[in-house]
Amino acid sequence: MILRAFLDILFPPLCHVCKSFIPAAGPLHLCPACHRDVRFISSPCCVTCGVPFATEEGIDHRCGACQTTPPPFTAARSAVLLAGPVQQLVHRFKYGHKVHLRRPLALLAGETLAPFVQTAGPELMVPVPLHPRRLRERGFNQAILVGEVLAATWGVPLLRDTLRRQRPTTPQVGLSAGERRENVCGAFTVAAPDRIAGKKILLVDDVYTTGSTLAECARELRRAGAAEVVAVTVARTSAP
Ligand SMILES: [Zn+2]
Ligand SMILES: [Zn+2]
Repeated sequence: MILRAFLDILFPPLCHVCKSFIPAAGPLHLCPACHRDVRFISSPCCVTCGVPFATEEGIDHRCGACQTTPPPFTAARSAVLLAGPVQQLVHRFKYGHKVHLRRPLALLAGETLAPFVQTAGPELMVPVPLHPRRLRERGFNQAILVGEVLAATWGVPLLRDTLRRQRPTTPQVGLSAGERRENVCGAFTVAAPDRIAGKKILLVDDVYTTGSTLAECARELRRAGAAEVVAVTVARTSAP
């Protein structure tokens, strides 16, 4: 108790978002006000891509886009909307090099998406890869950093180097859905197909925007022999 008080003076537990002092920080390190502003995704949503529907009533069903063009993954889910405090966390994590912020982000996903992952029953987790050039610029792959925490939380082995980005792509930000699809088309390759052949794969990334990156990864994994691909991201934009 005395040690705790002493540590709180030396390293006061501060909210990751607003930096206010939080006496009972808990593992998430978000103050009650910031935690309240986190928008968790709940039903009704698309059973395939996980997009939340605008109405609060009704049951989960396939959205129009997934009916017209079924994606190569069986299902994708995200824990929270990319908004408010989560948007700040993701931005500082990825572009501000605050790698320690992988923890609150992974914790948000770890608990919320646990039932989905349990039902899906994946055998291996595969992070969305970065091209080596982008990796050098950024210094880390955000999908691997989040994936490491999620792999430990869910007890699914993480395969770091099997799916690779074989050609550099321009950042997807600012591109239309069609341009995004074209941008990532043929961008990925599976280095050791025998490691994923016949396996149920859980793809992991930080953010779902149009789903084109996850779709292209899933397509390549399936082409290389994966039995099935499901996907999770921490956050997603509300509409593509
Ligand atoms: Zn706060
Ligand atoms: Zn859908």
